[in-house]
Amino acid sequence: MKPFIDPDEIWEFIRTRPATKEQVRDIIAKSLDKNRLTLAETAVLINATDQDLIEEIKQGARKLKEKVYGQRIVLFAPLYIGNLCTNNCAYCGFKASNKQLKRVTLDHDDLVCQVKALEDSGQKRLILVFGEHPQYDAKFIADSVRTVYAVKSGPGEIRRVNINAAPLDIDGFRIIKDSKIGTYQIFQETYHEETYAKVHLGGLKRNYEWRLTALDRAQEAGIDDVGIGALFGLYDWRFEVLGLVRHTNHFEAVYNVGPHTISFPRIQYASQLNIDKSHLVSNDAFTRLVAILRLAVPYTGLILTAREPANIRDEIMQFGVSQIDGGTNIELGGYAKKKNNAEQDIDLEQFQINDNRSLNEIMNELMDQKYIPSFCTACYRLGRTGEHFMEFSVPGFIKRFCQPNALMTMVEYLEDYAPAETKVKGYALLKEKLDEIDDAAFREKLIGKINQIKEGQRDLYF
Ligand code: SAM
Ligand code: SF4
Repeated sequence: MKPFIDPDEIWEFIRTRPATKEQVRDIIAKSLDKNRLTLAETAVLINATDQDLIEEIKQGARKLKEKVYGQRIVLFAPLYIGNLCTNNCAYCGFKASNKQLKRVTLDHDDLVCQVKALEDSGQKRLILVFGEHPQYDAKFIADSVRTVYAVKSGPGEIRRVNINAAPLDIDGFRIIKDSKIGTYQIFQETYHEETYAKVHLGGLKRNYEWRLTALDRAQEAGIDDVGIGALFGLYDWRFEVLGLVRHTNHFEAVYNVGPHTISFPRIQYASQLNIDKSHLVSNDAFTRLVAILRLAVPYTGLILTAREPANIRDEIMQFGVSQIDGGTNIELGGYAKKKNNAEQDIDLEQFQINDNRSLNEIMNELMDQKYIPSFCTACYRLGRTGEHFMEFSVPGFIKRFCQPNALMTMVEYLEDYAPAETKVKGYALLKEKLDEIDDAAFREKLIGKINQIKEGQRDLYF
C-alpha cells in the first residue's frame, strides 16, 4: 500500500496556507454547508492565530453542532480487561519496562462482576481496552466481547461493545467481527514517523506502518466501523490534526466511508511517564483543535474522554463532541470495588483521569445544560452502520430517529437507575423536548413508546 501520510506534504500545507479573514470565513461557511474540508482548507484554520478569527472558528464549530447534531450526547464507559503489555510506549503506565505496575487480567468471573456493576449504574455502551500481549489475541478479545453481551443484571444489559486494542492481521479482525463488535478503535498516537520511533521503544508497536494500515486490514475483514485518534502532546498538534484529516481522506477514497469516530486524547500523568514535554498542548490550543476538527470532518463522531477535567469537558462539548464517557474508572477491576472514582491507584492504571464524576452526576450536568444524554444503539442494532454519518447526511434523521431514541434511552435510565432528584429533572427535560416536536402524530407515537417504557418494556427504538 502506498503510504498515505507524507510529512513533507503536511508541513508544506502548514507553511503555505496563511489565514486571511475572508478565507477563514469562506471555509467555515463551506463546512456549515455540510461539506468536508480539504487538507489545504484545514491548514488555513490551523494557521489562524488572531483571537477574533479563533473565536469565529469556535463559533462556526458550535453552529455546526447545533445545526447538524442537535443537543444529544452519547454516553459510554471504558472497561479495562488487562494491562499486560509487551510494548514500551514512553507515555503509558502499562509499558513492559514499568516494574512498579501491578499486572492484572480480568478472568471470566471478574469480567462478569465488572459488567454487572456497570449495568447496575445504567451503562449500555462499553469500550473494552487491552494492552498488547500474546495473551490478548483475537480469540481472547472476541470471547471477552461475547461474555459482556451475555451479562444481564436486572433490567441492565450492554447493547454495544467497542474495542480499543492492538492492530491485528486480517484473520484476527475476522474473528473479532464475528463477535459483533461496534467500533474497533486504534490510535496512531503520532502521525509523525520520526517522533513515533522516539516514543515507541520496544515491542511490536514500534512498527509505524503496521499500525497505520491496521484499520485497512479491519476493513478488508469486513469491519467498516473504525475509530482513529492521535495522542496529543507527542508532536506538534497542527501536524497531528492534518494527519487525522489525511487518514480520514484515505478511508473515504478507498472505502467510500470515513472513520466512525475520531479521538484526541491529551497525554496525562502516568506511572513512569517518560516523554519530552515540549509538545504538550495547552487548553487554548486544545479547544482550537477540537473546533477545527469539527469543521474539517463535519460528519465524524468526536469522542472526548475523562482524561480531561470536568470544566474543560463542559467547555469543549459545545464545539461538536458527540460522545463522552461517564462514571469512568480505569482501574483494573475498579467498577466492582464501589470506592470513589477519585481514589486512583496509578500503579494499577494506564494514566491519570481528571473527571471523576459518577454517571448520575454527568447525567445531571448534561440535563442542566439542556443536552439530552443518550445511550442509543439503534443504528448499530438495525445494521445502519455509521450512525454519525446517517445523522449528518440523511435530512431529518436526527429529528425522526436520534432525538426520540435518545429520549427513550434517557427514560429507561430515569426509570431503572436515577435517584428521585434526577428523575424529576429528566422528566422536566423530556416535557420540554416533547413540546418542541412539531409533528403532532409523531409526538403521540413517541409518547406511546415512552409510556410502554414506563410500564416496563425496554429497548424500544425507531
Ligand atoms: N494497547 C493498545 C494500544 O496501544 O493500541 C490499546 C490502547 S491503550 C490501552 C489506549 C490509548 O490510551 C492509547 O492508544 C493512547 O493513545 C492512550 N494513552 C496511553 N498513555 C496515555 C497517557 N499517559 N495519557 C493519555 N492517554 C494515554
Ligand atoms: Fe502497551 Fe498500549 Fe500502553 Fe503502549 S499504549 S504500553 S501498547 S497498553
